[in-house]
Amino acid sequence: MQKLVLASNNAGKVKEFKALLAPLNFEVIPQGELGIPAAEEPHYTFVENALAKARHASAASGLPALADDSGICAHALNGEPGVLSARYAGEPADDVANNQKLIQNLLAYTDRGAHYVCALVMVNSANDPEPLVVQTRWYGQIVDRAKGSNGFGYDPYFFLPELGLTAAELEPAKKNLISHRGLALRELISQLQSRA
Ligand code: IMP
Repeated sequence: MQKLVLASNNAGKVKEFKALLAPLNFEVIPQGELGIPAAEEPHYTFVENALAKARHASAASGLPALADDSGICAHALNGEPGVLSARYAGEPADDVANNQKLIQNLLAYTDRGAHYVCALVMVNSANDPEPLVVQTRWYGQIVDRAKGSNGFGYDPYFFLPELGLTAAELEPAKKNLISHRGLALRELISQLQSRA
């Protein structure tokens, strides 16, 4: 098995990445297990933040590393909250306050279109000149009233018109099949397979 450090300690993500990468002979190790602290995420783009996290984890561990960076972009707000999604309403990160701020900022708009973004970056070493980079979108609409109790973050307000459900009303397995993160992981796996 090839060891791969995951630049995240989010239990849900760790489980998902472990399951999907095991068939490719990757042993996924969350960076926290190696005592590696979270990296700074100072950049304006998801890809740059994911690359910074992957490089940081690889430099600290001496192992290949995988990082993701994600968020939600409201079309009427020119892509806000974007890379600031986790802390849209300020520190400390608070999902309820973030959702309230998003709904408030959208009150004046009829265009409720939005998409989640997931950037995934895998590096073989901290200075890898050819990182694997994937970026995907998941489209929906922001609604004013929360529905559903699955998922996290903006999911109770992220409505999928073709399903008639919010992301928080989806079973986790169904969400993984169609979400920005699920799509990105499958795309990454296909790139890895075509490289081998
Ligand atoms: P990160 O990728 O863990 O940095 O996530 C950034 C933020 O984007 C999260 O804290 C959530 O607010 C939001 N976000 C990213 N992906 C999702 C999702 O699948 N559902 C709900 N919120 C998400």
